[in-house]
Amino acid sequence: MRIILFSVFFISFFSNGQSNYPQDYFTNPLEVPIVLSGTFAELRSNHFHSGMDIKTQHRTGLNVVASADGYISRIKVSHWGYGKALYITHPNGYTTVYGHLSKFAPEIEAHVKKLQYEQESYEIEDFPKAGVLNVTKGSLVAYSGNTGGSGGPHLHFEIRDKEERPMNPMLFGINTADTTNPIVKSIYAFPLDDKSFINGKNSKQKLTLAPLKGGDYTTEIIDAIGNIGFGIETIDRLDLAPNSNGVYNIQSFVNGTQNYELDFKRFSFSETKHINQLIDYETYTTSKKRIQKLFKINNPLSIIKPLVNDGIVEVQDQTSMVYKIRVSDFESNSSWVTIHINGKTDSLAQAETPKVTPYFINANQTTNLKEGRVSVDFYKDTFYENFYMDFEVKNDTVKLHEDVKATKKNFKITFDVSHYNEADRSKLYIAQLIGNIQKPSYISTKKEDNLLIGSTKKLGTYTIASDTIAPTIRPANFSNEQWISNHSELKIKISDDASGISKYRATINGKWILMEYEYKNNTLTYDFSDHIINETKNNFKLIVTDNVGNNSTFEALFYRK
Ligand SMILES: [Zn+2]
Repeated sequence: MRIILFSVFFISFFSNGQSNYPQDYFTNPLEVPIVLSGTFAELRSNHFHSGMDIKTQHRTGLNVVASADGYISRIKVSHWGYGKALYITHPNGYTTVYGHLSKFAPEIEAHVKKLQYEQESYEIEDFPKAGVLNVTKGSLVAYSGNTGGSGGPHLHFEIRDKEERPMNPMLFGINTADTTNPIVKSIYAFPLDDKSFINGKNSKQKLTLAPLKGGDYTTEIIDAIGNIGFGIETIDRLDLAPNSNGVYNIQSFVNGTQNYELDFKRFSFSETKHINQLIDYETYTTSKKRIQKLFKINNPLSIIKPLVNDGIVEVQDQTSMVYKIRVSDFESNSSWVTIHINGKTDSLAQAETPKVTPYFINANQTTNLKEGRVSVDFYKDTFYENFYMDFEVKNDTVKLHEDVKATKKNFKITFDVSHYNEADRSKLYIAQLIGNIQKPSYISTKKEDNLLIGSTKKLGTYTIASDTIAPTIRPANFSNEQWISNHSELKIKISDDASGISKYRATINGKWILMEYEYKNNTLTYDFSDHIINETKNNFKLIVTDNVGNNSTFEALFYRK
């Protein structure tokens, strides 16, 4: 009996449990070999990457094919996020997602254009029923692109389970060569209460990482006492591309016993925000390094397997321990880090006293902070921990700590602007002051009577800003009264320096036309193949509105045969 149990354990351990997932069901959604610029669950800002990013040879317009038989169950066109995206539901219950597309295949494109013209909106979302837009495995569904929040041409590809949880597509055999071990960039040790110390210090310590032969690592021996934890900064590289990717699995061991695991097979969208509690958020916002903590404090992430004592290591005086970390990629290439710990009480060590302010935040309670014309509402469960907030109001600027505490939800900042005269008041918005130069950046602002109400998730400094300048509009490929019979598109550049573009509306001869907005290059594009016009002399009109309501109108005549 014992032998059988062991063999079952080893089979599932060494095969990544892939036998649970169909291996030939899904095919490469592109007709070019898979080279990845992003892996599943890699660490991004405020979320885990929910799919794999497949490179498209620096081009847009590559054929995107259905990864398996099924039907188009959702189509979303958005200025942000996935840009133009398709969702295909398959008979086995999984859904595949294709993002940042430039265009859909003709039948789907016609379906989308119809909705866009009916709704007079570039942004649409539709949930076609089974049978309306059926697809077969390998059939053309779209063309790859760079729409939405994409930093260069690629296809974002996801496989989701029945509960809409994204899963690692590699589990289904969509894969690429990887023959090198993950790279460890840094290791940190964290004392986890005021009675715990590492090398005599009560604050997180960066350890000195020494590479060993064969790709493993060790650090200096540390003296420690009390409850401590470790964190790791690590990446993986694949054979066909030089970029950094996420790793697949991280395990830690105390004296040979596994005590913790991060397993990046699957997560749900409702928990992706807790990435900010998985990483050391302060290090991330101050130095952009993502240190993944190998201990669990107030973190409900399902990728965490807290096997022993939530990954926390209890170090006692006069003992020695060996702590090891194993980082693996999907192909089970692994790198080990070994840390020797000596338990040592340091009679001189003193805990650092936290900065005490009058503004104590109890994470379990609602908190209102008010001073002068500013009022801030933090809801229950906004933060992961209790702390003393740095809160300061000067004129129309409020300092809400530094952006070093992770949050779970938005909070509300309210400014009373009744001291502005009515004309000026209508031009105001709430801005976050960003970086060393304190550049004002618009945050979502509502206006109610004499109040500006902002909603944000980030601590930092916020102020009232004013935008009195309407957006600029400039034709990019035509001029007034020009003959443009050979143009396939109309292109216009739009921009707004202060509060940013909120909306736009374009017409030709009074009829609404679809203009695709690409915020990354400030361009609006109309495609003449939409066949909206059949006259020679045409009147083009565009109104662009910024986030406080300033409008610009541009009109031009053009001729076409
Ligand atoms: Zn992606």
